[in-house]
Amino acid sequence: MGKRISKQIGEISSSRLKKHQSDASESKTKPKRVRPPAPPLSLAINASLIEEGMTQSEMQLMDNCPEAWYLRYNLMLKRKGEFSWATTYGGWMHSFLEEYYATKGKRWSVNPELRERKFITGAVLQEYEYWAGLLQIQAEIYASHFKQDFKLYKIKENETLVDFTWKGVRLKGKIDLYVFAKHLKGYYVWDHKTASRIDKQTVMGWDFRFQFMFYCWLAWKIWPKRKVKGFIVNAIRKPQIRKGERESTGSFLQRVRSDMLARPEFYFYREPLKLRAGDLQHFEDQILTPKINRIKMMLDPKIKDSVKIAMLRNKNTDHCLAYNRPCQFMQICKNGFDIEQHFYIKREHKHEELVLEFE
Ligand code: SF4
Repeated sequence: MGKRISKQIGEISSSRLKKHQSDASESKTKPKRVRPPAPPLSLAINASLIEEGMTQSEMQLMDNCPEAWYLRYNLMLKRKGEFSWATTYGGWMHSFLEEYYATKGKRWSVNPELRERKFITGAVLQEYEYWAGLLQIQAEIYASHFKQDFKLYKIKENETLVDFTWKGVRLKGKIDLYVFAKHLKGYYVWDHKTASRIDKQTVMGWDFRFQFMFYCWLAWKIWPKRKVKGFIVNAIRKPQIRKGERESTGSFLQRVRSDMLARPEFYFYREPLKLRAGDLQHFEDQILTPKINRIKMMLDPKIKDSVKIAMLRNKNTDHCLAYNRPCQFMQICKNGFDIEQHFYIKREHKHEELVLEFE
């Protein structure tokens, strides 16, 4: 019996071996997939775009992946149909908050508008009902939850565009709110943040984060008489509860609304972060100045192109999946611009988030 089994195994093994051998000979005839040779890295810096001004997110991108900066802000590319609900929802919320604080809470509205609809896919449009409904609910509950804001804070600036030239480099940004906080006895920069998760732990270390320090530094420079004491993160959290498989969007939104009313502190989170004496000077010397110097080097004709290529055509592949979504330039970086260029279009404006107000 034992012999018979081992004979059978032997038969199977030898027939598998033959198949394996024939597969191997077939694969020899198949053409191998070979990466086409890539052209050498070139560089064409568009100086007028740099002179148009740099925002904090642009400077951060230059740190995170210089190649992404080069493609986005220098070649002005964007992927067709690139769309993010996180950014869109954040923009809608900002418009609501601007009106809310401009009218001291007396009047506000929501405007869930989708820009560049021709590139938006059907799948995105299917979700529209949810996000537009969520905006209405969250704005309404925010407005009632923070009625006391106008007693606690004197609003000095609201969605203020800043255009400030420092060491020959033009810097631009938008300060969401600049307030005098009566209970904290000082001026604070506010930043509205819509996010899925923000709590005390997430905010840890933000008093060193470039974005917030940059806005405080700008406030320090442009409003020296209103001495900035710190910043306040005004976080608006998106729901964590999930839609049931057979649940309609309308009834899911009702559930979200009840949850938001029952525990508003989960959806709305505020964290003031105080600056220490000397923090802004340290930021200027140690963090901002090296970035400004790098921008100046890019524009300096005395600096060789080989140095500029080393600085700017550098791909940080660790950043390709940052924020849990693929970078929009992944296909260019993987397959080359010549093959993928049809999927990209030119951006009309360098900083789309600022352009309406600057024009
Ligand atoms: S795909 Fe990766 S390497 Fe390429 S630009 Fe984006 S982040 Fe940089």
